[in-house]
Amino acid sequence: MFNWILKKIVGSKNQREVRRMLPLVAKINEIEAGLQSLPDEALKQKTAAWKAELSQIQDPDLLQKRLNEILPEAFAVVKNAARRMVGMQFMVCDYEYTWNMVHFDVQLVGGMVLHKGRIAEMATGEGKTLVATLPVYLNALTGRGVHLVTVNDYLARRDAECMGQLYAFLGLTTGIIQHDQSPEERRAQYECDIAYGTNSEFGFDYLRDNGMATSREQQVQRGHYFAIVDEVDSILIDEARTPLIISGPATVSTHQYDRFKPLVEQLVRKQTAHVNKLVADAKELFAKNEKEAAGMALFKVKLGQPRNKGFLRAMEDPELRRLTDKAELSFYQDTSKDALVALKEELYFTIEEKQQEADLTEMGRSFLNPDDPNAFVLPDLLTEFADIETDTTLSDTEKVAKKAAAQQHCDHSAERMHNIAQLLKAYCLYEKDVEYVVEENKVVIVDTFTGRKMAGRRWSDGLHQAVEAKEGVQIDRETQTMATITIQNYFRLYEKLGGMTGTAETEANEFHDIYGLDVTVIPTNRVVARLDENDRIYKTRREKMGAAIDEIKASHGRGQPILVGTASVEASEVLSRMLKREHIPHTVLNAKFHMQEAEIISRAGMRGAVTISTNMAGRGTDIKLGEGVAELGGLFVLGTERHESRRIDRQLRGRCARQGDPGRSRFYISFEDDLMRNFGAADRMTKIMETFGMQEGEELEHPWLNRSVETAQKRVEQRNYLMRRRTLEFDDVMNQQREVIYGYRNEVMDAENPRVLIHEVINEVVPKKVAAFLTIESSDAEPDVAGLLQWVNSTFPVGLTREKCAFDTREIGANGEWLAKTLVEAYDRKAAIEDEAARSGLEKYVILNAVDRLWQEHLYAMDGLREAVYLRAYGQKDPLTEYKTEAYAMFVELMESIKNEVMNNLFRSTTNLQAFEQLLASLPRHLMQKDLLGSEGHLGANEGEADTMQSAPAAQSAFDQAMQKAPAPRAPKTAGRNDPCPCQSGKKFKSCCGRTA
Ligand code: ADP
Repeated sequence: MFNWILKKIVGSKNQREVRRMLPLVAKINEIEAGLQSLPDEALKQKTAAWKAELSQIQDPDLLQKRLNEILPEAFAVVKNAARRMVGMQFMVCDYEYTWNMVHFDVQLVGGMVLHKGRIAEMATGEGKTLVATLPVYLNALTGRGVHLVTVNDYLARRDAECMGQLYAFLGLTTGIIQHDQSPEERRAQYECDIAYGTNSEFGFDYLRDNGMATSREQQVQRGHYFAIVDEVDSILIDEARTPLIISGPATVSTHQYDRFKPLVEQLVRKQTAHVNKLVADAKELFAKNEKEAAGMALFKVKLGQPRNKGFLRAMEDPELRRLTDKAELSFYQDTSKDALVALKEELYFTIEEKQQEADLTEMGRSFLNPDDPNAFVLPDLLTEFADIETDTTLSDTEKVAKKAAAQQHCDHSAERMHNIAQLLKAYCLYEKDVEYVVEENKVVIVDTFTGRKMAGRRWSDGLHQAVEAKEGVQIDRETQTMATITIQNYFRLYEKLGGMTGTAETEANEFHDIYGLDVTVIPTNRVVARLDENDRIYKTRREKMGAAIDEIKASHGRGQPILVGTASVEASEVLSRMLKREHIPHTVLNAKFHMQEAEIISRAGMRGAVTISTNMAGRGTDIKLGEGVAELGGLFVLGTERHESRRIDRQLRGRCARQGDPGRSRFYISFEDDLMRNFGAADRMTKIMETFGMQEGEELEHPWLNRSVETAQKRVEQRNYLMRRRTLEFDDVMNQQREVIYGYRNEVMDAENPRVLIHEVINEVVPKKVAAFLTIESSDAEPDVAGLLQWVNSTFPVGLTREKCAFDTREIGANGEWLAKTLVEAYDRKAAIEDEAARSGLEKYVILNAVDRLWQEHLYAMDGLREAVYLRAYGQKDPLTEYKTEAYAMFVELMESIKNEVMNNLFRSTTNLQAFEQLLASLPRHLMQKDLLGSEGHLGANEGEADTMQSAPAAQSAFDQAMQKAPAPRAPKTAGRNDPCPCQSGKKFKSCCGRTA
């Protein structure tokens, strides 16, 4: 009842919103009618005039205000250009294409919604590709670049090539970002007024630009003004579950998946044997009417291997299922917690399907390591620390060492346990051809929502490596995260974001909370004539598929095209085999045939066509009805499973009945489907079924049952949303840090005079160091002048002495200022003798190099921290709070380390060898260490020289590194072959440094 009222209000709010836009639609059409008499060139001139005007407006609010003012005329111009293009022929993705579209009124409304930065929900076939042209054109007039985000490379190209003609007609340029392009090509695409591409390409370009490029020239994007995301739910919700990660060679690798694989394999086999026996026992017990014991045995199987085939088959029987549920319920009462623990101990490990967790039991631990089952238990670090602390036989240093050893031991155990748990999950929960496919010796994730392969993505937390170990493919041990961002945070970069899809309403909350996007449902151009029939429900998967095959056969017999949706790649293959046996010709469309996806799906509406498709594969391509098909009732969509999310089901239904076409849809479900098993829908239905007294092969059908399924779906949606939000909460911490680091990087890259930044670092770090060394804690202590000098002289070749510094003549603050000033001067002296052009590049390099190296180390540490805080969750601490606190501390440390590293490298790098030698020559070579070493240091002036030279190899290697990245020294370019070599060797250039050139 309440729901219904709510819907009424929501519905009418939406309607009011749409109604408010109708006068504008009339205005646009009126202006458009007036444009019809103009020559083509006049339209282009309007574009040019607007561009000139808008590029002058800096203030973002003023800019949007002006855009709103010109919207009616600009939309009219686009619509009018479309009208002029009707009949025009051109190539789109290598096929001849004839333009035949002029914007419908509802499309104008959709365009306005997108321009406002909202989501336009428009049903399949309403022409969203064309809708986007309106706000894209309007916003591209600002000259700030508009991005149109598609779900795959093919659609980016198709839409850009097609709509690009319209933009070109109006005088705007269109770029296409494709996976295999070089940075130069990419930059050229981004330079265009409009760029089409996938979310991954946009996101990775961002990461490369801000996390890896070392100069502006290497960056390809030019800002994030406005993006329109096509199939916005697929990209911002489904794909958002795995972050974009750029990985590079790892410096550290500690995992042992290879080592544990054989052990875990044996363990899984043992458990399988054990569990199979339990299933057999259960059946026997049941036959003997020992029902409770049977239920208990089955529940145990559920704990140990929820996807066991025998168990799934047993669950086909409603009575057995009820007994299992009953056993489960009895254990989840507070009073029987111990009994549950005891029950688990009869297994080798337990698997939680819903929470995706795997845990070793005592039995499993002893199996893995009979000598030391505790190898797989985390040591009690707190007690150990306390014991060490109170041990009076230990000195302070010994205590520290002991604690460090204990900590390390604990880390090793944690890593080991983590590896084992991930392997168990890989074996028991991740199925090949469902969750992933193996291709070219790689494990490629399949998006279980869309059936689409997600190339280049990896599961985090070592799960990916565990699956790689399981499949025996090369484990990517050598990689570590170099840059990462979640899809959510990438799209939050845009000043304005719009989205379109056929299905957004069910996820409206999430769009609002996370992206600040509100949904407007746009009415269809024509009345929807689709018939959505009640679900058909069967006891077992087998019966369900049998009935579905009959339906497919009947439909095919009538000549009515049928699109069959499956939940996974594996399911579509199983179905395909069944159809083959029945001699029904059909085409399979799944993640494995990504390339032909669009073409196959476009033929799915032909007479008699049978098309099997994973959920949403081929999304973005519309299905036109063949001749005579409308009379047969249009396209028939048959779902073989209800998906976890209602949205995906709506998407599938939406494949038929476009633009007022006839069409119908129906779902076939069984109690064995994952959704039914995991989210309680089955319990309720089992009861209903028993009440109805349902027999083998019989089916159920009632609107009430549809609702039970939807309740289960809502529950899963909610859970998935919470999981995504959790990921995001963790990434938010990283996001803030990333913004600081990327901001600093860009500042360095843009700096006209990077020396200022270097001075900044010196002025910041030096006084702190001085304070640290010279502050005395108690009145009888001495300031550590020797320590300070040691630091100064090992970091800067300035040869400072106690006398020269005369620290005792100033306050600590003044000492800090004095030393900073001295070092700045020393640096400037060094800089003055360097190659002017190369120097600024080198200075930037010194900073960027420090930032990148330490940031990557930091990312690695953050990964570790994330794992660690999860372990802490066992100790009743909130992982997120722990993560935030420690991440902050680590970041503060990171910033300090970066500055220190910059300082350390300042004098270790120079622009060319010549300058380096000059530098050495100019250094005060005496007294380098003498003052510090005191009686033991008996270095004379000559030895002092040797000492300086000693540090040269270190300096040279840093120098070598710098040379690789710094702009090449100018000398070899400018010197003629017969000129004296600029290295002052006295030889001719061609026979000296020019020899190798
Ligand atoms: P959606 O993405 O909304 O499902 P598409 O953009 O794929 O829809 O368009 C569906 C079909 O409708 C395409 O064949 C397109 O050419 C056609 N179409 C879109 N808008 C119009 C229009 N205004 N007039 C005629 N055909 C149109």
